[in-house]
Amino acid sequence: MITFYPDFYEKFTCKAAACQHSCCKGWEIDIDAQTAARYQQLPDALGAEIRQNIVRCDGLWQFRLNQDGCCPFLQADGLCRLIRKAGESILCDICANHPRFFVTAGAFELAGVGLSCEKSCELLLADLSTLTFHGEDSDRSIDLSTLLLQMGMELPAEELVYMAGMTPEDAKFVLDCMKKTAPIDDAWTKQLEELSAITDKLMPPTERELALLTRIYQYLVYRALEHLETYGMAAILSYGQLNADFISLLYQLTGQLDESVRRWSEQIEYSVENVRCLMELV
Ligand code: SF4
Repeated sequence: MITFYPDFYEKFTCKAAACQHSCCKGWEIDIDAQTAARYQQLPDALGAEIRQNIVRCDGLWQFRLNQDGCCPFLQADGLCRLIRKAGESILCDICANHPRFFVTAGAFELAGVGLSCEKSCELLLADLSTLTFHGEDSDRSIDLSTLLLQMGMELPAEELVYMAGMTPEDAKFVLDCMKKTAPIDDAWTKQLEELSAITDKLMPPTERELALLTRIYQYLVYRALEHLETYGMAAILSYGQLNADFISLLYQLTGQLDESVRRWSEQIEYSVENVRCLMELV
């Protein structure tokens, strides 16, 4: 099975202390069964400390988050105390891999980095050129159209470009769809209300913004290819457009494109139910 990667994948490094939205805060951290069993056997003081800070919840072991919702091993400097004390090999699968993803689409594996991570958003938006990918062990960069061709799908070039020109009615449809997803927090619901107030004040994207929105759209399409068999390509393209439209709306409200992408990801990309909800609406 060939694995594809976006070309920026290898540039990923965690921002650690410089990250404003650490993934060690605000998320439940499930521990895979193999690592949980290893933690039960760790003999020294660190092993005892780990066991005091994990809990079993619905049959799964998790780190016991503190009152601020932080992993108990997150240090004030943003670094992980488990890595500091015992190296990366002590991590469970989620901590070792996040924000990397590996999904299957037909006979291919698609890899990437999830956009709830600040660094992933920065890498996606770091340049205006066409988004490119490469197969494992290959230095040859290919665009999304060529990647899809290799997967057996030939699409007209215009279907792989973000469609600007959102009307107030389009924007209302996008927001109506988002309102049907389960909100990640109260701030999300409040922001949807604020967005409803700007649907008739939309500005067309500049050339630069359009290039970035196309990179976002293409990455969302790539990310959604794991659902190809269930929903088909037409739904995946519509899903990409709907979510890129939403990110564009949020950007018009906040003026921050990378943060708009990251916030969208927290709400949609990292919720299996919300992805399914939108896939069924488009
Ligand atoms: S969100 Fe990304 S950059 Fe921030 S701590 Fe997590 S992996 Fe590192």
